[in-house]
Amino acid sequence: MAKENKTNINRRQFLKSTAIAAASMAAIGAGVTYIQKYKRDENNAQELLRPPGAIDEDAFLYACIKCGLCVQICPVHAIKFAGINEDLAYGTPYINAREQACDFSCDSIQCAETCPTAALYFIQFKEAGLKAIEAVQQQGPEALKNINPFEVQVVAMKKVTHIGVAKLNEKTCLAVKGKGFSGTPRGENFNGVLRPQSIKNQDGSKIRKAYPLKEQKYEREICDLCVTECPIGEEAITLKKTTNPDGSVSYKPNVLEGCTGCGVCEMICPTEPASIVIEAGKTYEEVYS
Ligand code: SF4
Ligand code: SF4
Ligand code: SF4
Repeated sequence: MAKENKTNINRRQFLKSTAIAAASMAAIGAGVTYIQKYKRDENNAQELLRPPGAIDEDAFLYACIKCGLCVQICPVHAIKFAGINEDLAYGTPYINAREQACDFSCDSIQCAETCPTAALYFIQFKEAGLKAIEAVQQQGPEALKNINPFEVQVVAMKKVTHIGVAKLNEKTCLAVKGKGFSGTPRGENFNGVLRPQSIKNQDGSKIRKAYPLKEQKYEREICDLCVTECPIGEEAITLKKTTNPDGSVSYKPNVLEGCTGCGVCEMICPTEPASIVIEAGKTYEEVYS
């Protein structure tokens, strides 16, 4: 049913966008294609990412009307408009995770919720959230006393996000080298913000607001910032500890199937360039099998 809806929506939006494209071309009186084709650079490992819920790239280029609502609503300003020199169709929204990742600060995938054309397809998030709430309700009134349904819904919605998959560069990763980290991960001049996962409010509750990363200091004997700040948690990434035959211990961030490709790990990684980057639009199997 969901697939059928998606197809119908895509067809409608295709017709709508085609009409807009035709009108624009007539207006400028030139044979220039209004919607530029996304040119994928096979040699560029750090492709720019589409916002959460983006439909298949070809359909996205027709469905997105470049209205900018997703850009405006994102509380951490993760979403930007592609400029004329960027490797995406001009004027469409994208995320550069190294500069500012989607840390799910909005708590409800607001970019997709606000998209008027389903270029960012929200139904999948809504369905996941409702299903999670129903599961809580079925546990009865006693269970409900200890569960925050909003929190359950938010977690479920985050988990169905698929922007890409994180990939580790073992050659440069500090943890693999047995090194720690101390200080602000991206330095004093970095402008990105992050809602921290490993730092809590004084009463132990989760921090709900994103803060400038340059104000957040970390002390780690073995660097594990990508692991502890991941908004998804241990279903997405863990720090794997291995005891070697000689008794020494080695570490490695281990990306798991729950990775959404949100890019927080890429943004916070203190090495330059980042030792963990998002492979845009890829599945876990494509990256790790
Ligand atoms: S889901 Fe992420 S990118 Fe979209 S509005 Fe929320 S924080 Fe921004
Ligand atoms: S809200 Fe939807 S249609 Fe508007 S720019 Fe974003 S993706 Fe495109
Ligand atoms: S490992 Fe975590 S922080 Fe990194 S992209 Fe995946 S979900 Fe996001």
